[in-house]
Amino acid sequence: MDSSRISIDGTDIAFAQDGQDTVLRAALRAGIGFPYECASGGCGSCKFDLVSGAVDNLWPEAPGLTDRDRRKQRLLACQCRARGDLCIKVRPSQESKPLVLPRRRTAKLAGITDITHDIREFRFVTDSAAEFLPGQFALLDIPGIPTPRAYSMSNIANDAGQWHFQIRRVREGKATAALFDRLEPGDVIGLDGPYGLAWLRQDNERDLICIAGGSGLAPMVSIARGASAAGLLDKRKLHFYYGARTAADVCGEHLLGELPEFASKLHFHPVVSMPESSALWSGAIGFVHQQVEQDFGSRLADHEFYFAGPPPMTQSLQEMLMVQYKVPFSQIHYDRFF
Ligand SMILES: Cc1cc2nc3c(=O)[nH]c(=O)nc-3n(C[C@H](O)[C@H](O)[C@H](O)COP(=O)(O)OP(=O)(O)OC[C@H]3O[C@@H](n4cnc5c(N)ncnc54)[C@H](O)[C@@H]3O)c2cc1C
Repeated sequence: MDSSRISIDGTDIAFAQDGQDTVLRAALRAGIGFPYECASGGCGSCKFDLVSGAVDNLWPEAPGLTDRDRRKQRLLACQCRARGDLCIKVRPSQESKPLVLPRRRTAKLAGITDITHDIREFRFVTDSAAEFLPGQFALLDIPGIPTPRAYSMSNIANDAGQWHFQIRRVREGKATAALFDRLEPGDVIGLDGPYGLAWLRQDNERDLICIAGGSGLAPMVSIARGASAAGLLDKRKLHFYYGARTAADVCGEHLLGELPEFASKLHFHPVVSMPESSALWSGAIGFVHQQVEQDFGSRLADHEFYFAGPPPMTQSLQEMLMVQYKVPFSQIHYDRFF
């Protein structure tokens, strides 16, 4: 297997990149705190400058780079593979240091269950234990799809090698078409993980607010399950908001209802933005971030926040929490689903 040595300019940090890895995956596999968020080319958090050496750029048009970045020849570590030894410029951070080192595995599809008309749970099993923190994601290599896709786990770490994903079918989406229309129980895919920084923090006493928009269900369910399993809900409350477009899109309550703290410490708040009619929906109406603001207002900064979903939702939440209510950044953990 080809191996390249990648060193970080101005530091004594160096790591090897083998075979199919990108610069980002190689760094994280080596335990280095390479800055990143989505690992999918969307967010731009893993930008670096090339000091010497050459790379294969797997997705030069990736939206995570601006025109200015391209003019300055910046690159995304999640979309570049070293072609020989490299020296790069980037600032590693303690916050990005992986607590569980990502590993490649093969995973067999063990079962599928419909959650809504367009969200399905896909349950995979691997030979070795499923090691990850609640809220993290994996990169899946799906047969027939040339580039990997990120999907968040909805379950929690387990020795049985169970990895559960809740995936929304995207209109004309390539990977979701393959998953929904072609993959069958018994089929095998590549699973690399865990990745992601929006994992459950256990080092504080604050009540939790989890906010899922659309396909952001899985990581928030994982956070709720993780909080329950760790005993955090003995002392703390967890408010789970689900933002849906229509009443038919609302989901999650039956999954949370399986947890012993449901209704006493764990509360489900569905919010619909475009209800079909008052006969079909009598609950809260509006955008989910507005409902959170209405419910908590000046008490927002007393909470620990987790959220996942489409970038417009996460953007509204970031602005509301960070700018308007001055919630400290360290209390806010999110994944944008590009
Ligand atoms: C951290 C994270 C976690 C996620 N978790 C979930 C989840 O739990 N459930 C869920 O339903 N969705 C999740 N997503 C979204 C998911 O990864 C897919 O974007 C979505 O399923 C659409 O995929 P598609 O192939 O069907 O759509 P398409 O429109 O065919 O592809 C969209 C995505 O493919 C990638 N892509 C497109 N072209 C290229 C290229 N040339 N090279 C590399 N990549 C390319 C990009 O990431 C793009 O957003 C998550 C995304 C991220 C970033």
